[in-house]
Amino acid sequence: MVDNLTPVLTKRWLSPRSWTLKTYEQLEGYTALRKALGAHPDQIIQQCKDSGLRGRGGAGFPTGMKWGFIPQGDGKPHYLVINADEGEPGTCKDIPLMMADPHSLIEGVIITSYAIRANFAAIYVRGEALHCIRRLNGAVQEAYAAGYLGKNILGSGFDLDVVVHAGAGAYICGEETALLDSLEGKRGQPRLKPPFPATAGLYASPTVVNNVETIASVPFIVNGGSDWFRTMGRERSPGPKIYSLSGHVTRPGQYEAPMGTTLRELLELAGGMKDGIPLKFWTPGGSSTPLFTADHLDVPLDFEGAAEAGSMLGTTALQLFNETVSVPWAVMKWTEFYKHESCGKCTPCREGTYWLVQILQRMVAGNGTASDIDTLLDVCDNILGRSFCALGDGAVSPITSGIKYFKDEFLALCDKNSAVLAGAH
Ligand code: NAD
Ligand code: SF4
Repeated sequence: MVDNLTPVLTKRWLSPRSWTLKTYEQLEGYTALRKALGAHPDQIIQQCKDSGLRGRGGAGFPTGMKWGFIPQGDGKPHYLVINADEGEPGTCKDIPLMMADPHSLIEGVIITSYAIRANFAAIYVRGEALHCIRRLNGAVQEAYAAGYLGKNILGSGFDLDVVVHAGAGAYICGEETALLDSLEGKRGQPRLKPPFPATAGLYASPTVVNNVETIASVPFIVNGGSDWFRTMGRERSPGPKIYSLSGHVTRPGQYEAPMGTTLRELLELAGGMKDGIPLKFWTPGGSSTPLFTADHLDVPLDFEGAAEAGSMLGTTALQLFNETVSVPWAVMKWTEFYKHESCGKCTPCREGTYWLVQILQRMVAGNGTASDIDTLLDVCDNILGRSFCALGDGAVSPITSGIKYFKDEFLALCDKNSAVLAGAH
């Protein structure tokens, strides 16, 4: 059983009209902001460091450390940019959070901006999520009208403007530097790192880019304290986490639980596998994290636990597939996605994903050849670690892990007479 299931990030989600300022204020909303504005900005950064909060966008970089990289007294404007692009296949935690409780994000934005001395923040939302953009804009307007945004917030002398920016639906614009280019009105393509955004980000100024769930955690840390935050989760990955379960599960959706919760425990909450058909394979954190199998049900889903078991925590997007699904077919569908979304800037990813799709489609259609597995692995080897950004590395994960655990299914497709029909095994 999952211990310590008291909801934190999702605690307001089921309240009537949870997205309104009125409900938010009735449920302790903006109390953390008052507290933060009474403290020195450096104290807020230290509190975030002490809490051990790590980035919830996938990479798990220590949040307080990132804020601490922003140079002070440099004479340049500082910016906060919220990555609300949420494009990783299977990931559905940030949009529900912004729909149900947009003010928790806005309060986190104000506190973070105060800490890093930024007077402008942008929330970059994927363009398809029009409902979410409307909801956020409504909440931002409410916050301006109540004096939580704008000039001299709550009489503190601190000024902040927040803009909600709609992206145009390119997966690569979730990569933080492509996102910054897109925000500047350019074609969204990754920049060379370093310099990292903390030193040269939006308009070449120091910029913190953080994920929605990360920043929505900040008011809870300010109110509850860093020691309280560390009572949840594991030592190196503390705090609560929103896990999104999709696919062949009885009750798909978002489940908040302490970091380090296992899929076995999450499945108990979600009513088990749909129709009782056993689990075959799953992604721990979206399709760019290596696949797990039914043997990985007890892996603690935190940054270290997932890595020690040979994958990554990623976005905690758990996509579950039962025994009826063909692994090569699922892998082909993900690879088609990455090929489509490759921005084309570097050769290994642009050309490699094209050829991976050609081979996988041929195999799944029943025209595989004896050398196909070796060729797939060779192409993957030439993408992994040789691409300009994480998209290339992520694109090979389903293929290499699929072959690692389910080689028989790929081998069967090297025989010209075995096609896969509509995903069925
Ligand atoms: P990364 O490890 O390169 O960087 C993580 C963060 O830490 C960035 O903000 C980066 O600027 C900062 N950082 C790292 N080293 C730094 C340094 N030395 N100085 C200053 N700042 C530093 O990871 P990434 O490429 O930003 O992200 C990859 C992750 O994104 C993957 O793990 C994947 O799970 C995830 N992802 C998420 C989605 C989504 O929809 N949320 C989509 C695709 C991928
Ligand atoms: Fe673009 Fe792919 Fe290269 Fe990233 S790895 S820069 S998405 S071509």
